[in-house]
Amino acid sequence: MPVREDLEENLRAAWLQAAQAPHLHLLWRRQGHEGEPLQLSPLVQQWLLANGRTPADWAGADARVVRDIQPDPVGRPQPKGASLPVTRLSASAYADLRQCPYKFFALRQLRLQAPPELDVETEKRDFGDWLHEVLKTFHEEHRVHAWTEPEWPGQLDRIADACSAQRKLGAAEFLPFSAAWPKLRDGYLRWWSEYQRQEGLMFDSAETAYEMGLGKLKLHGRIDRIDRVGGAQNGAGQAMLIDYKTESLARSKERIKSPLEDTQIAFYAALLPDDSLRAGYVNVGESNGTELVEQLDVVQARDALLQGILDDMQAIRDGAVLAALGEGDGCDYCAARGLCRKDHWEHV
Ligand code: SF4
Repeated sequence: MPVREDLEENLRAAWLQAAQAPHLHLLWRRQGHEGEPLQLSPLVQQWLLANGRTPADWAGADARVVRDIQPDPVGRPQPKGASLPVTRLSASAYADLRQCPYKFFALRQLRLQAPPELDVETEKRDFGDWLHEVLKTFHEEHRVHAWTEPEWPGQLDRIADACSAQRKLGAAEFLPFSAAWPKLRDGYLRWWSEYQRQEGLMFDSAETAYEMGLGKLKLHGRIDRIDRVGGAQNGAGQAMLIDYKTESLARSKERIKSPLEDTQIAFYAALLPDDSLRAGYVNVGESNGTELVEQLDVVQARDALLQGILDDMQAIRDGAVLAALGEGDGCDYCAARGLCRKDHWEHV
């Protein structure tokens, strides 16, 4: 992948080449969408400066004619998805349906997805994936070697370095995360030591894929981690289902406030055969340590969720309208936004 400096050098070379053309029309926008003034591109500004010109020297007569255009808003799409059977459902797909039925129709039933982009920058999500892998490896190896508590930080550092090398994370780009690592590591290990003592729970498995049949559907997902009482394996001992979060602690606490809205943890609970279990988010903070935010009503939430899924899927089969709701934060980063044309009907 080209680095930023190379991209800039190529752009400047292309611009200089274009600027040597015998006839050149330069067009630029003076205002943005909200009417805010826009500056000339630095490339053009430098070029004008070098040639002793100002933008005013180039302002010829404007040949454009002003036209009145009547607003022609479109209505909200209202498709039906009965002919696109849903056979598999993940937690995130069901969250889409709850958030906006049209989003579910477009992204999950029609399967319209933006192609993944190659990104050279390390983002918070890369850090989250890396952290999941580091903790998984640490707990799996610890089960074999039974390291003493003073050995934990060194072993965790060794595994963290190995995971960074394997993922080819550049030291410079990973710097904001590696700078936070010692505090995060110590906070996590403090929590884990205390958690084992208080709860009597020990690591069982991590990043395991599960499937569960529900009527004509298969629910599927990958569970971050499962601990069990006394470290019992193979399904023995009460389970504690864990989902790691690197978001703010306030956000994790917000999730558990309304058990029936907390569909993510309830969905994961539905993937396990255990009738009774515990579940929660382990918030791995960069500055405030690690904390377990437990959903105490997970069994009730899981049972309600399963009934809700059955009802929703039956409604889709019966031809329910999958309307675009256009509400809440979900629209801000929605991949179907251009398709539902929310920006063209939100003022209707
Ligand atoms: S942008 Fe909003 S209204 Fe449109 S599909 Fe996405 S969530 Fe629904």
